[in-house]
Amino acid sequence: MESSIEKDVVVLGSGAAGLTAALAAARVGADVGLYEKSDLLGGSSAISGGVPWIPLNHLQDEAGITDSREDALAYLASLSLGRMDPTLAEAFVDNGRATIQWLEEVTDLRFTLIPDYPDYHPENPGGKPHGGRSLDPGLFSYAGLGPWQDAVARSRRSAHLRITDTTLGGGTGFLDEAEMQRRMDADLRGCGNALVGPLIKALLDAGVEPVRGAEATDLLLDDDRVSGVRLRVDGSDTVVRARRGVVLATGGFEWNTRLVSDFLRGPMTAPTSVPTNTGDGLLMAMRAGAGLANMGQAWWVPAVKIPGDEAFGRPRSHLVNRERTLPGSILVNRAGRRFTNEAANYNALGGAFHQMDPVSFGYANVPAWLVFDGRHAERYGSFGTPAGEPIAPWITRSDSVRGLATMVGIDPDGLEETVARWNGFVDVGQDGDFHRGDSAYDRWSGDGTHRFTKASTLGRLDRAPFHAVPIEPGTLGTSGGPRTDPRGRVLDTRLDPIPGLYAAGNVAAAPTAMAYGGAGGTLGPILVFGRLAGSAAAAGD
Ligand SMILES: Cc1cc2nc3c(=O)[nH]c(=O)nc-3n(C[C@H](O)[C@H](O)[C@H](O)COP(=O)(O)OP(=O)(O)OC[C@H]3O[C@@H](n4cnc5c(N)ncnc54)[C@H](O)[C@@H]3O)c2cc1C
Repeated sequence: MESSIEKDVVVLGSGAAGLTAALAAARVGADVGLYEKSDLLGGSSAISGGVPWIPLNHLQDEAGITDSREDALAYLASLSLGRMDPTLAEAFVDNGRATIQWLEEVTDLRFTLIPDYPDYHPENPGGKPHGGRSLDPGLFSYAGLGPWQDAVARSRRSAHLRITDTTLGGGTGFLDEAEMQRRMDADLRGCGNALVGPLIKALLDAGVEPVRGAEATDLLLDDDRVSGVRLRVDGSDTVVRARRGVVLATGGFEWNTRLVSDFLRGPMTAPTSVPTNTGDGLLMAMRAGAGLANMGQAWWVPAVKIPGDEAFGRPRSHLVNRERTLPGSILVNRAGRRFTNEAANYNALGGAFHQMDPVSFGYANVPAWLVFDGRHAERYGSFGTPAGEPIAPWITRSDSVRGLATMVGIDPDGLEETVARWNGFVDVGQDGDFHRGDSAYDRWSGDGTHRFTKASTLGRLDRAPFHAVPIEPGTLGTSGGPRTDPRGRVLDTRLDPIPGLYAAGNVAAAPTAMAYGGAGGTLGPILVFGRLAGSAAAAGD
C-alpha cells in the first residue's frame, strides 16, 4: 500500500548539501521533509575533515589577510582548464562570506582559520601561499543532541580531533590525555561531525526531523514539473508531494561501478565516501530530463586499503596524504619509475593515475606503489603504526631495493635506477623530474618539524629495510551530474530550468568544475550552493 504526505520542500540526502538546503528552506518558513537513505545521517560530509574553502571569508579581516574577488576568480579559473561556468564561480565567490556568517548566526557552528594552510596551487594567479581560505569548524558536543547523539556517521580515527589538531591541518595528530578525556566526556567531536552536528541541531530546533532509512527511488512529474518523490521506507513505497520543490543532495555516484566505468575519465577503485552514494540522484535527474556536466570528474585521492579494515561493512579506503609527502618515500609504477610530485595535493595527483601509455594501451601508473625506507618507517610511523614501533606485517619489506621490487612485481632495474636518481636529487636539494618541494604547498604537508622548507618532503631513501605499499586511484566523491544555474535550479538539455527541481553537492555538476582550490574545496561550494538551492526551492522559483 502506498501512503502519501505533502511538504513544501523535499530534500533528499543528509550530507552538508542536504542539511544546508533544508535549513535554508526551513528558516524562511517552509515545511521541509528531509529524507536519508542510510540509517545514519551526515553522509560523507560527516566522515570528512569538515573543512570548507571560502575566499573572502570574514575571519580574514580579523587575521589581517587580504583577498579579493578578482584574485579568487582568477585563481579558480587557473585550475579549471576552461571548463568552469564563470557564472557559477562568481555565485560561489560572491556568496561564500555571507554563507559562513549565516551559518554562524543560525547554528552553533563557529569557524576558525587554519593557520598558514596554503591553497593547493598557491603559486597560481590569485593563490594564497599563507592560507586564509580554509576554515575549521569548532568542536561540537553531541551530548546535546539527545536521542540523535548516535544518529550520525562517524570516522573512528578523527572523531574527537579538529583538522587543526591533525598532521594534515598543521597539528601533531595527538592530544594530551586530559584534553582527550575532556572531549570524550562531553562527546565533543571535530572535523566532519563538527560540521554536520550543528546543522542537524538547528534543523531539529526548527522542527525538521530527518527521516532515516528512506531511499528516494524516483521523482514524480506533473507535465514538466517535478512535484514530489517516491521513497522506499521499511520495504514500503511512500509518496511525498512537494508543493514548491525537490532538492537533490544525494551525493556522488562513486559507489556505482557501472556509472563509474561509464563516465569517469580513468580508473577509480577506492571510493573513500559512504557506500550509499550510488548515483541515485543522478539517475533520477536524468530521467527527469536534466542536462549533465563535468561527468568525467571526481575529487581524486591516492588511497590505500589495509587488509581487514572495514567501514560501513565495506573495505575501507584511506586517503594517503601523509606518508607519500614525508622524506624517504617515492611513488612508482610497475616500471619502477616515479610519475608525479608525491607531495602535490591529492586531487591534482589523481591526474597522474589516468595517464595513458599509447604503446601498451593501458594506464601507465596503475598499479602504483609507495616505496619508503627504514628511516621513514621508524621516524614517522606509517599507515596506522606509531613511530618507533614495528611496521604492520601486511606491508611488504625487504633488505634491498631490488629484493623489494621482485617481491611486489616492480621492474627491479627500473626501481634501483629511480632510487639512485632520487637520492641524487635530494643531495642537491632539487627534484629535477617533478619539482617536489618547490611549491609552498609541498612544504606544508610533510615532516612538520621542517615545515616551510624543502627538508619537510625531500629525504634520501637509503636505509634498509625498504617497504612497498600498493596505492590505488580513489576519490572523495564524484563531481559530475545535473547542470545547475547559480540558484541551484537543475537545467534541462536546452539549459532551461526544470520546474520544481534543484540540486546541490556532489550529486550535481561541481560549480567549480575541476578546480579544487584548497583544503575545503568541495565543502565550501557545497555549503554555498546548498543554501542557494534550499532558498530557491522554498521560494518555488
Ligand atoms: C575522508 C574524507 C575527508 C574529506 N574531507 C573533506 C574536507 O575536509 N573538505 C572538503 O571540502 N571535502 C572533504 N571531503 C569531500 C566531502 O566530504 C564531500 O565532497 C561532501 O561531503 C559531499 O557532500 P554531499 O552533501 O554532496 O554528499 P554526502 O555528504 O555524501 O551526502 C549524501 C547523502 O545522500 C544520501 N543518499 C544517497 N542516495 C540517496 C537516496 N536515494 N535517497 C536519500 N538519500 C540518499 C547518502 O546516504 C548520503 O548520506 C572529504 C571526503 C572524505 C570521504
